[in-house]
Amino acid sequence: MLSLTEVHPGIAFLDTDQFGVAGQGGVYILSGKPAALVEAGTSLAQERILAALDHLNISRDDVGWIFLTHIHLDHAGGAGGLLHELPAARGVVHARGARHLLDPSRLVASVKEAVRERFPLYGTVVPIPEGRLHVAQDGAVFPLGQFRIRAVDAPGHAPHHLCYFEEKERLLFTGDAVGLYLGGTLVPSTVPPSFDLDASLATLRRLTDLGPAQLLFTHFGPGSPDLLSLYPDLLRAWVERVRRIRRAHATEDEIVTAVLREAEREGIIPCGPARGDLAMSARGTLAYLHQQEETT
Ligand SMILES: [Zn+2]
Repeated sequence: MLSLTEVHPGIAFLDTDQFGVAGQGGVYILSGKPAALVEAGTSLAQERILAALDHLNISRDDVGWIFLTHIHLDHAGGAGGLLHELPAARGVVHARGARHLLDPSRLVASVKEAVRERFPLYGTVVPIPEGRLHVAQDGAVFPLGQFRIRAVDAPGHAPHHLCYFEEKERLLFTGDAVGLYLGGTLVPSTVPPSFDLDASLATLRRLTDLGPAQLLFTHFGPGSPDLLSLYPDLLRAWVERVRRIRRAHATEDEIVTAVLREAEREGIIPCGPARGDLAMSARGTLAYLHQQEETT
């Protein structure tokens, strides 16, 4: 059963059942000339994505672009495999992420370290041939008939993060730059290895200046643009929480456990596997704090 919703005329959102759970991760499908995907999901999403294209009567030959917000495997892990099935498509990626999709060995090793026992849920990663990858600079524009996509440099969650702004309808594909929006709750996403608070806050100001009419989260679905003004405070409070709890505990595992316990007590953890996301975000924040101390 496909879970496919129209979020805007010509734009469908497919639940890819990320990590085997509904409502966690998805891929947007834009019907246009050419058609396009925003995100590829992991390799485990491939069958579902191809079935969704069939369902929407989009020929595999008509898909021109796969817009990848960043190279983390829940967004780009399946891109190599998908490009095999979509002969005219090219993957669009930030300049700082490209080499890790051409040769994913370091990326895969880094994800393995970050997600630990959840690694099998991230599928397999096929390298993308050079000619099938398109590096987008900030401001690059992609006309798709009824839509016009602009790449927006959006570092913070990761240095290789782009958001995509659909200029005609003012829709902002946020990737993970505005966090996760799970079950109506905005959740910080500050995963290892290279979350950066200041870069995130600067990105959020730039995204706000675009004046989007709607946010389209990868995790998970449409949200009000008002969330853009909530996320900076949420991020700051989250980083402060980790900083404070860190002082009282010796090991990383103890700190993460204490952060989750406190977050649970305050009811800021939404349902399901978001607990694992939040544990990763605690680790990413610790790495950020550690790096801050080393550079100051
Ligand atoms: Zn993600």
